[in-house]
Amino acid sequence: MDDCIFCRIVRGEIPADVVYRDELVTAFRDIEPMAPVHVLVIPVRHLQSTRDVELRDEPMLGRLLRVASVVAQQEGIADLGYRLTINTGRDGNQLVPHLHLHVMGGRMFGWPPG
Ligand code: AMP
Repeated sequence: MDDCIFCRIVRGEIPADVVYRDELVTAFRDIEPMAPVHVLVIPVRHLQSTRDVELRDEPMLGRLLRVASVVAQQEGIADLGYRLTINTGRDGNQLVPHLHLHVMGGRMFGWPPG
């Protein structure tokens, strides 16, 4: 996806505060953080959303969660807890059409989400 903003971040064409990178996923700080720690973990392969997940994506999906856990440790939010969120489609309020996992912490979150 040439014009996908998150694909461009993966390729290094747009600046981002990257905190983790490997062959399957990239993690970078959200540009408009909703919490003291707010990192997005995204697949390198372009998937619009969880609707597009295929069998071949299972290793990447496992990596996505593991890296979220590593990032939470690195950012010092693991002990008190954090919120992992994937927004999908219109009703999920997904704004960027490249699958991403929000890792948010450093404050208390409510439930249910608004
Ligand atoms: P969502 O509503 O789940 O699609 O969230 C998209 C997230 O991407 C929002 O929290 C945005 O602040 C974030 N975002 C959009 N553009 C950028 C960017 N260039 N760098 C970092 N985060 C971004």
